[in-house]
Amino acid sequence: MHPRSNVVVLAAACGIACLVALPAHAATEDCIQCKHVDCIKGLIKQKTAMAAGYDALARKWDPLVKVEGKPSDTVDFNTITDASDRNDFYRGMLDKFRAFAEQENDLASQVGQPGGCGAFATEASTDTFLTCAVDKTSLARSREQAPCRQIGDLMARHEALHRDRCIARKRSPGNHMWKPDDFPFFVPGIMQTPAAHAREEAAAYRMEIAALTALLPKAQAKCEISFTGVTTSCRIPSPAGTTEMGQDIEGKVCGDPTTASWTMHTVSWVRAPYIGLRRNNDPPWQSDCVAKGSTIEADRARLFSRGPGAGWMCVYDDSTTPPTIIIRNFRLKPCSPNVEQTFVRPVIRHECGEDPAKPPPPPDPELPVG
Ligand SMILES: [Zn+2]
Repeated sequence: MHPRSNVVVLAAACGIACLVALPAHAATEDCIQCKHVDCIKGLIKQKTAMAAGYDALARKWDPLVKVEGKPSDTVDFNTITDASDRNDFYRGMLDKFRAFAEQENDLASQVGQPGGCGAFATEASTDTFLTCAVDKTSLARSREQAPCRQIGDLMARHEALHRDRCIARKRSPGNHMWKPDDFPFFVPGIMQTPAAHAREEAAAYRMEIAALTALLPKAQAKCEISFTGVTTSCRIPSPAGTTEMGQDIEGKVCGDPTTASWTMHTVSWVRAPYIGLRRNNDPPWQSDCVAKGSTIEADRARLFSRGPGAGWMCVYDDSTTPPTIIIRNFRLKPCSPNVEQTFVRPVIRHECGEDPAKPPPPPDPELPVG
């Protein structure tokens, strides 16, 4: 093997490559939009798995490179006075890093792509030994293909963490350059161990996770959540015939569905003998949705089912993908049957302020095409 290729394995190559191109201007788009919520969640999950995987690699590699019998973050070739020993140790370290790099690749393929992001290239690397340089070409391409700006920025911050720590190692006192036998160039005396490299990756991923965790609620706040297609009903039989009544319900909210005010649209209807079906479009009104499993849900259910009045309540369940709206309808005693009616509907998500029902504007026939 040509000696020059030996240094290549000491790069921190981050992420997973893939080949689907997205619009080149994607990286200028703001991540604080509802449409990026699933991707941010997917990235948090993926990077959490990567950080945990690197924790495991650090534990595995700590006993495999020891300095004076103990695991260490660095080895110092300058402390080995015998030239032949020093060369052998250096070659041994390169072999270890080769094995380590294979385990990193296995980890990346096991963890896989982040869910909810579509496919984008996250291939960026930094030389963490000789030059401390970030591969600008691959980083620029990754940033350009990122779904949105802040996610692209995080890739740069991740690589900057590797670069800064590499520079700190290079500048540490006593780090003298030396030239391994048959090498065309000098290399630093201090080299990071695979275990320390794994810890550095875990730290870089955790920095990203913290930033994404801060970004997530901001993007979620841009979501309009809505549900539709709920019809409550109550049948009341009588000698003159059965009367049936109920409400068609739909609702929407912008922001946190359990704290923001919902706008409900209801159509109250009644179907009775001799009268037929009468529908009344009620004016929109403000209401709330309570979190599934909350005390307020239990309190309200007790109130509705024990008290004289019946009614329905909106419950938000975030544990499903997508989240679900549950409409719990507590029916009047004379209803037959009068047991609780429960509707479970997946939420529809849009950017706040955008009308999902509005079709795209038709082409202007006055304008020439092309
Ligand atoms: Zn990295």
